[in-house]
Amino acid sequence: MSRGTQPNQIIFQTANIDDKIYIKEQTGKFQKIRRYLASILTIIFIGLPFVPYQGQQAILFDVGAQKLHLFSWILYPHDLLIFVYLFIIAAFALFYISNRYGRIWCGYLCPQTIWSLLFFWLQFRVEGNAQAQKRLDKLPFGASKVIRKGIKHGLWLLVSLFTATTFMSYFLPATQLYSELFTGQLAALYWGWILTFMACTYINAGWIKEKMCEHMCPYSRFQSAMVNEATKQITYDNSRGEPRGPRKLSKPNAQVQIHDAAHEKLHKLSQNKQRTNSLGDCVDCNLCVQVCPVGIDIRQGFQYECISCGLCIDACDQVMSRFNYAKGLIRYHGKVKGKRSHSLAYIGLIGIFSVLFIIWMANRPMFELNIIKDRNVLYRVVDDQRIENTFELKLINKTQLKETFTLSLKGVQGFELVSDKPIEIDADSRTSVLVNVLSPIDHKAKFVPFEFVLRSDNHAISSKSVFHGK
Ligand code: SF4
Ligand code: SF4
Repeated sequence: MSRGTQPNQIIFQTANIDDKIYIKEQTGKFQKIRRYLASILTIIFIGLPFVPYQGQQAILFDVGAQKLHLFSWILYPHDLLIFVYLFIIAAFALFYISNRYGRIWCGYLCPQTIWSLLFFWLQFRVEGNAQAQKRLDKLPFGASKVIRKGIKHGLWLLVSLFTATTFMSYFLPATQLYSELFTGQLAALYWGWILTFMACTYINAGWIKEKMCEHMCPYSRFQSAMVNEATKQITYDNSRGEPRGPRKLSKPNAQVQIHDAAHEKLHKLSQNKQRTNSLGDCVDCNLCVQVCPVGIDIRQGFQYECISCGLCIDACDQVMSRFNYAKGLIRYHGKVKGKRSHSLAYIGLIGIFSVLFIIWMANRPMFELNIIKDRNVLYRVVDDQRIENTFELKLINKTQLKETFTLSLKGVQGFELVSDKPIEIDADSRTSVLVNVLSPIDHKAKFVPFEFVLRSDNHAISSKSVFHGK
């Protein structure tokens, strides 16, 4: 067996997809950080749909009306370039984080990890620790097993249902969704979506779990292209830890309690075996493997399955404290003076796309005017002397204020609008208006390009069109 590899060397090994991993529940610094982050992100996810802005839901993907409310922004399908910018910026931010800190997105922030963490927590509360879970799985089906498994799956399904309704409240106003849900008036279509999202959550976080990170997520496959010797990765200190082996616990650390079967086993091991000077600091307790959510042994070197969660660090630090050894046998490690050119390039690209994004947002028109020429009747002769064309003006108001425009023509002499009635448009809405334009007497030209201009106290917009003659 390989006894450790270089920090930036990644091992690819394929796990049997049917192998079930029984994880030992771990406490410690990094687990605490994961739980805090997971709680904060979950609260944001649940709470955001209830945040109001100017009398309506601040964030709402209104699929029916084909628009997206993002606080003061109202985005229509042709505004979705915003997402291109945001995805590019997010992608470079992810590359930068991966280059500096490895796969910490996966270990701390990814929804798959957060929901799996929650499902594991429920499993520990219902079925007990890893050994108890193993024993329960080996039991033949009986009342106790059915009840425990039933409670666990019931809780998982409840969490999945709540996740699905929360997700749905980004597409249907939360107040409407919950009032229709609790009064039994929710349309079958919405129920269909909720049940689909619920099934996805339950299957992903309850059944697929770490296999999603290992076999399905593309990020785990291309992350190796983003790391170098400066990347802080989870590393087992091979020179310090090897040769590994169990040994006697000569001076137990009173602060560390024997709080479960694994620590008990460790204690007995240390009582029975003598430490020799030829041993390294690794006492071969296997705790770093037992707590690993993806079931790998980090002592074999960095592996692509590792999600940089730090649980093996927590476990190993506790063991080191117990033996009065220095912590950090397993730690986040990267060369301080390693290559930083990739990081700088990513920061540069994030900066460039952020500036482009700000410029695009600042110049984004708050009103849009589209002109559609009546194609059924290109022109009509009026009073045997003048020619009339009909146009449809399609106007979009992306602001939160009602606006009144006056219409005029630009670029033509002697042409007239049949009506000079002002055009009103409500806040956050679309309207369409039919407009007739009359040529001067004895007009001869076949095509006359011109512009429609809409003016209000605060805005002016124009759009080009063509007048058709005989
Ligand atoms: S937890 Fe630490 S001491 Fe125990 S096996 Fe892992 S590396 Fe060795
Ligand atoms: S080896 Fe396992 S426990 Fe350690 S950081 Fe990687 S995924 Fe987490």
